[in-house]
Amino acid sequence: MIRRLENFVDGGWVSSGAPEALKVLNPASGAVLAEVPLSPAQEVHLAAEAAAKAFPEWRRTPAGERIQPLFKLKALLEENLDSLARTITDECGKTYAESLGELRRAIENVEVACGIPSLMQGYNNEDIAPGIDEQMIRQPLGVVAAITPFNFPAMIPFWFMPYALATGNCFILKPSERVPLSSNRLFQLLEVAGFPRGVVQLVNGGRATVEAILDHPAIRAVSSVGSTATARYIYAHAAANGKRAQCQGGAKNPVVVMPDADMEMTARILADSAFGCAGQRCLAASVAITLEGAKNAITEQITEAARRRRVGYGLDDGVEMGPVISAESKGRIEGLIARSEQEGARILIDGRGRNVKGFEKGFFVFPTVLENAPPDGEIARTEIFGPVLSLMGARSLDEAIRTVNARSYGNMACIFTRSGAAARKFRSEVNAGNVGINVGVAAPIAYFPFSGWADSFFGDLHAQAHHAVEFYTQTKVVIERWPSDWSRRF
Ligand code: NAD
Repeated sequence: MIRRLENFVDGGWVSSGAPEALKVLNPASGAVLAEVPLSPAQEVHLAAEAAAKAFPEWRRTPAGERIQPLFKLKALLEENLDSLARTITDECGKTYAESLGELRRAIENVEVACGIPSLMQGYNNEDIAPGIDEQMIRQPLGVVAAITPFNFPAMIPFWFMPYALATGNCFILKPSERVPLSSNRLFQLLEVAGFPRGVVQLVNGGRATVEAILDHPAIRAVSSVGSTATARYIYAHAAANGKRAQCQGGAKNPVVVMPDADMEMTARILADSAFGCAGQRCLAASVAITLEGAKNAITEQITEAARRRRVGYGLDDGVEMGPVISAESKGRIEGLIARSEQEGARILIDGRGRNVKGFEKGFFVFPTVLENAPPDGEIARTEIFGPVLSLMGARSLDEAIRTVNARSYGNMACIFTRSGAAARKFRSEVNAGNVGINVGVAAPIAYFPFSGWADSFFGDLHAQAHHAVEFYTQTKVVIERWPSDWSRRF
């Protein structure tokens, strides 16, 4: 019998009454791992009600006490690292090492949020006028929710949850319906971490569940991560309902390689960026723009790295790249590669139609390298979200920066060079929220906001660190007068 996942509401596990459910598959083998309910609006309502009920006491709990369950959670995450990583690999497809990597970043966010008693401090001025003082304090919003994607099932909920809870909000997670097992495991740990009932909740579901979150009057703020179409929709809908929103979207990340770059290092880092997590990272390099003098070396070394990459089941020894998330995703990626060929691109390494022995039902696309895709063609404009790297040329750094800035996305842009001046110009002029200099995956550590510009982000305050603290709090400004003659009466 297939296990049906439960929601975590009001301090306990509850079965969803959802008439519809989806099968959760291991993308390496196609095996059914579980079934996830598509929770209806009424179940979002119950979670929101429980959260609203828990809020008054939770917000009055001193910040230093609110972070104690987070310290416990950190210890639990460390203790359960191996089983969590295996769960991520089994439902998401990435390698065990990649799963451990995302868990480290999840834990780092818990550590940062444990600093809330300092991070949440306001500020004040004495004597803004004679005998009058003014102060700004931060207070939590109330009930907040996050809607997360499939590609980092453990890390992305932690871009939001620890900050929301530490600042005194009550939190609802709606994880991706394609990878709900990781959240299920995480909530088993949250259950023992010691949060009061109603403070943190898990509601599984799909689009209708999101609609119910966006329409619920008790939910004050929504964080989401997903494709640009989803981000745009959630942002508009949340704003129309008067909610605070931060919505991270898709990406198409360019990497510029200057002729003075260390070619061996660049090719190695570029291959990890383009093919790591099977290209299903919002910070995956998708286009390499080489300047004359870099082109031949990069083309040669990156095709070799693509050819050599060991593809397979992420829990098997030596595997460097797993499958993509679904059969639909594999079909979409292979279709894009086929159409790029029709558009005039040359396929240097073709990852289509390949099998992994023993995993013939898996959704594998092998590393693929293309060159000369037309800049206005489909492959150059579309987020592929698979292990496909396009190579193109530029005559100068100015031209490369113009190409970078012509994209509609602005998640990440990277440059490889030994020149401080070229790096400085690039850093200053590119339209991207996360910039890498001799770095291929410019993922901000938890002490910095995870940025993103243009079609890659809708909102103003980003995930992680100070931005998260600001997002989850509202500022109150208090102006006080305490005449000194009043105290003489006592
Ligand atoms: P997705 O947009 O399909 O789904 C994301 C979440 O939104 C899921 O929980 C899903 O249930 C919900 N959702 C999907 N369609 C919806 C709709 N029409 N209305 C309301 N809710 C909807 O994304 P995905 O395939 O799970 O994740 C991959 C995408 O996420 C890629 O585009 C990737 O670039 C992006 N991503 C961005 C970042 C970032 O930081 N910018 C990070 C990770 C992933």
